[in-house]
Amino acid sequence: MIKVAKFGGSSVADAAQFRKVKSIVEADPDRKFVVVSASGKRDGDDNKITDLLLLVNAHIQYGVDCASLLATIEQRFLDIALELDLSFDLATEFMRIVDHLKEFSPEYIVSRGEWFTARLMSEYLGMPFVDAADVVVFHHDGTIDMVRTQTKLREAVIHTGGSFVLPGFYGATVDGQIKLFKRGGGDITGAILARCIDAGLYENWTDVSGFLAADPRIVESPRGIHRITFEEMRELSYMGASVLQEEAIFPVREVNIPIQIKNTNAPEEFGTIIRETANEHAREHLITGIAGKKDFVGIYVQRAHMSNEIGCVRRALSILERYGVSVEHIPTGVDSFSIVVNGNDVKDTIYSIVADMQRDVQPDSINVLPGLALISVVGRNMSRRAGTSGQIFGALGEAGINIRMITQSSQEISIIVGVQNEDFEKAIRVIYDRFGDAVVVRER
Ligand code: ASP
Repeated sequence: MIKVAKFGGSSVADAAQFRKVKSIVEADPDRKFVVVSASGKRDGDDNKITDLLLLVNAHIQYGVDCASLLATIEQRFLDIALELDLSFDLATEFMRIVDHLKEFSPEYIVSRGEWFTARLMSEYLGMPFVDAADVVVFHHDGTIDMVRTQTKLREAVIHTGGSFVLPGFYGATVDGQIKLFKRGGGDITGAILARCIDAGLYENWTDVSGFLAADPRIVESPRGIHRITFEEMRELSYMGASVLQEEAIFPVREVNIPIQIKNTNAPEEFGTIIRETANEHAREHLITGIAGKKDFVGIYVQRAHMSNEIGCVRRALSILERYGVSVEHIPTGVDSFSIVVNGNDVKDTIYSIVADMQRDVQPDSINVLPGLALISVVGRNMSRRAGTSGQIFGALGEAGINIRMITQSSQEISIIVGVQNEDFEKAIRVIYDRFGDAVVVRER
């Protein structure tokens, strides 16, 4: 099986991390394709090379001398090269950049973080270097040209004898103009490579052991999620449990290549496998994970006999559309509905929105409920189990937590409860304690 192994910034931050990457790559002969981010932070106070390069651009833009900044960047790479005894000629390359600084585009300069990191990694691993500018092809509008990219990547596989190191995060248009993905976009490069060469697995090496069933700042030592579907992952990421760049998922999801999140600092840990379906295992957890966010606002609209009228909800929604506010949930009653929105999106406009609703919907009352926290309990196994939501509500009730809102996603993979901000952490703990480790045994 071909594996694409993508290493994030912290996994390639210094020589010690490079050593870990090497032992990971050498531990599995299937790991033939390596994608790297630019060196990231070595510790909390450090800077990512990409951020320093963005700063170089700002210096150029405002005509401020950036020689010492470039020297700092060069030194980061020199430290790695020196410690690992690499011969790549960093000095000449940096001189070339310094000499032509004003001629390079801002994208070109930022892309050098990945370029240098991949150059050094290629020498260190003894694997050929392939420049993303030659194989990852962008349209001029900044979107990826998958057809050309696939052809180029497959050619690169043949030319290199079936193994190489590729810098992430950038590519180029057919006329050679460097283009960048958005921040964190090295994950996208890895996914595109995996797809274009029909990899069996896309490994994404980072500094955490995948997804946890709950936020460790709230729940003490939550269990890791070993298997998750793309759909479940979207639900959890949306609610803040984010490990992977959202856009990185689509190239591999479409062709059903699984992604495994792994920890460079703890490679023995299983991490998380994300795939389209995950039902081949007889014993699975009832709940895959719990995630949530605070500071939503509920707008509660009530109007007698609304159930006999058409268009009330539409009018209310079109007001929010006008204000550019996206809607999270719309729980409805017979003569009422609530619209739940992100508090931040309406912090300056809520009074105008309510006034517009008074005018256009003519309700009997509108109440605004701020400080709402939403908790999403996610699990592909919940739909076949009667009583899950009953138990969630029961557990919260026993703990004295008032539920302000309830919704369930249409495919029944998540149950969302709204509680007051101040009950948020307690509610997550209560649900985790009731379900965190519960297992369902499937009938075969
Ligand atoms: N180096 C880029 C960034 O810091 C891309 C990446 O790390 O994936 O955003």
